[in-house]
Amino acid sequence: MKTSRRQFTRTIPALAAPAAALPAQEAGAGGTLALSDFQPKSMLVVPEHKVPRARYPVIDVHTHVGGALRQTAGAGLSVQQIVSWMDELNIRTMINLTGGFGEALARNVAGLAAKHPGRFLNCTEPAFQRIREPGYAQWQADELGRAKQAGAVGLKILKNLGLVVREEGRQGPLVKVDDARFDPMWAAAGKLGMPVFIHTSDPDAFFTPIDRFNERWDELGNHPNWSFYGKDYPPKSELLAARNRVIERHPKTTFVCLHVANHPENLDDVTGWLKRYPNMHVEIGARIGELGRQPRRARRFFEEFEDRIMFGTDATPDGKSVPQQDLTPALYHIYFRFLETLDEYFDYAPSPTPPQGRWRIYGIGLPDRILKKLYHDNAARILGLRAL
Ligand SMILES: [Zn+2]
Repeated sequence: MKTSRRQFTRTIPALAAPAAALPAQEAGAGGTLALSDFQPKSMLVVPEHKVPRARYPVIDVHTHVGGALRQTAGAGLSVQQIVSWMDELNIRTMINLTGGFGEALARNVAGLAAKHPGRFLNCTEPAFQRIREPGYAQWQADELGRAKQAGAVGLKILKNLGLVVREEGRQGPLVKVDDARFDPMWAAAGKLGMPVFIHTSDPDAFFTPIDRFNERWDELGNHPNWSFYGKDYPPKSELLAARNRVIERHPKTTFVCLHVANHPENLDDVTGWLKRYPNMHVEIGARIGELGRQPRRARRFFEEFEDRIMFGTDATPDGKSVPQQDLTPALYHIYFRFLETLDEYFDYAPSPTPPQGRWRIYGIGLPDRILKKLYHDNAARILGLRAL
């Protein structure tokens, strides 16, 4: 990671005078400082409230905790470690979204849900590699029923639908989110009472050039393959419009649009969609950086849709590739602080700033009534679990 960051190292022209690079600690006024070395420490003195335990029991609807089952001894986290953290943090249940299908799903159910009743639930995923087989559409719908029998509680759609999955292997055109071959699957999810957790597109800045105007320049520098600008990628608006057409076509299916419908940069847009589609819900995973930099607008959003927003983190036990979502108690402490306090100007992730963009966030101090729904009851309702 260090190496790739270095490749994207630039200097800030305004600070650059003599080109001879000084060690970071010696770069004084008029010296040259690499942007990646610029790590200003806030001089603000403001109250800091630590929140090591959520005020109400939590259902984290967005985790990839199945990865813990794949860790070899000595590497990564054990499921036992995760359970003891859950007890400490007041997390009642984690939904493992990437539960796979067939044998992988069976493994996740046996290793998580069956071994720790009530603490873990699994979602299933479509078999995109089979979409060109004749009869796929009906097979996929039927497969959802089999996955439910095997213990899956919902259906997860990764962002690869719309951005990675192609016709004819790697060469063909991208498969559209609203491709008709998936209609029987969306309908079956509704009939079976399985909510669809759907991730479509990515942050707005991933669809613009990686240049000095890009507010996620550091993040894209660390992960250049996260950029969907150029090539034959559709504009982001087209991806979201296709997702919304699916939601509109299947009013009896519950959709949970992950990452604040992947458009927290514009809560007015998300508000419009939530008003238009009663079967649409959202989740906040990996987006408190976006919500927390607009705390007054974000708080109004939580108040307006208190029954439609769910708690999620996108926590991954092997967070090496996405450090800001590494499953640790520290990750959860920041979410709880953002939601429960009115603290000002703090880091939105435990990993070195700035994992996403160069800004900090402000708490929104939600009232107990909303916290209870956000942390637990909204997810419990759509998953058919008991309310608090
Ligand atoms: Zn995720």
